[in-house]
Amino acid sequence: MKKVFSIFLIIAVFIYVSSYFESSSDLEFIEEKVADEPSFEYGICIDSFLVVRGSIKPNQTLGEVFYLHHIDHPIINKIVSKSKGIFDFRRAAPDNKYTVLCSSDSSEIAQYLIYEESISSFVVFDLRDDIDVYRGNKKIDIIKRVSAGTINSSLWLTMDELGLSTRLVSEISTIYAWTIDFFKVQKGDSFRIYYEDRYVEGEYIGIGKILAAEFTHKNNNFYAFHFKKNTNYGDYYDENGKTLRKAFLMAPVDYKRISSRYSRKRKHPVTGQWKGHFGTDYAASTGTPIWSTANGTVTIASYTKNNGNYVKIKHNNKYTTQYLHMSKIKSGIKKGKYVKQGDIIGFVGSTGLATGPHVCYRFWKDGRQVDPYKQKLPPGDPISKENRNDFMFIKDSLFNILMKDLD
Ligand SMILES: [Zn+2]
Repeated sequence: MKKVFSIFLIIAVFIYVSSYFESSSDLEFIEEKVADEPSFEYGICIDSFLVVRGSIKPNQTLGEVFYLHHIDHPIINKIVSKSKGIFDFRRAAPDNKYTVLCSSDSSEIAQYLIYEESISSFVVFDLRDDIDVYRGNKKIDIIKRVSAGTINSSLWLTMDELGLSTRLVSEISTIYAWTIDFFKVQKGDSFRIYYEDRYVEGEYIGIGKILAAEFTHKNNNFYAFHFKKNTNYGDYYDENGKTLRKAFLMAPVDYKRISSRYSRKRKHPVTGQWKGHFGTDYAASTGTPIWSTANGTVTIASYTKNNGNYVKIKHNNKYTTQYLHMSKIKSGIKKGKYVKQGDIIGFVGSTGLATGPHVCYRFWKDGRQVDPYKQKLPPGDPISKENRNDFMFIKDSLFNILMKDLD
């Protein structure tokens, strides 16, 4: 009873806080400045400007914000055309913050407008002289941590009790997807995880990479060490340099639940007809990135009435995969494009014959549609010979950190 009450209280406070922010976000406010040292924001010295901060109101366009700050329509049109390929004006979303730097004389004409696209990235419209539009990123501070725990009930509950992010749970279960069956995790199993926490201007924005992990299941230790083969691609290996992955990822998306499994006979949720469902449906929010489950070449990136926006990838002579109902195919993904395992190919949607946002993932072996989870899939590549020494060195240092005593 007590628990129910406190949950209710938290919800009530949350509603109060969110409504407070809603009403205050309608207002723009002007800052008073008391500063001796030059202060920089977004890489710009703001001292000589009148700083106005606000957030986009519902149904407000970025053009209207410019206009409010004495930028006329011909100039706004120029800004829009200068932004092409850098930022799409229509994507300015309600509640997103902006900062206008206005001339400090009585005209108060906007000199800069900075639109915050996300917590860490922004777009700068420099309106002085010639119009310039560019993107920037706020500095992300990373704090590395080791967390450890012993499982009492489920992995999720244990990590939740320790106050660890749910994102960490899903990452760790993805890393070990082919190694440990998390439904069989039992009381007494334990884990240690070395990972990054990310902050922007002191505000927590979520976890970064998991650098190393030890999972003890039925008294066996399973290790995962992150190693970057090149600047944009890293992977997890065990203590001997064997990859923890199969040649295929477990799932094409970070999903909420599997809404329909592969089966030879099922009732179609839209047509009501009994027909085989030769795919696995992963429910996820619209816009969630969909990634290729293995290296391969795109053979189709197109739209049909039933499939909606979809992509088909040929991995080799044996295996082909297909991803349906995308809200959008990622730009640049077209026939002939080579993609690597984990590359984003599109975004979750419900185009075509679909009742809600999900990815229908289809898997062919030797030209026949099969259930990927019933296949013996080939393992991924181990650490290459030329990377072996580097890997061993990094692995040893990660291991030492992972095993350090925790306070
Ligand atoms: Zn499906």
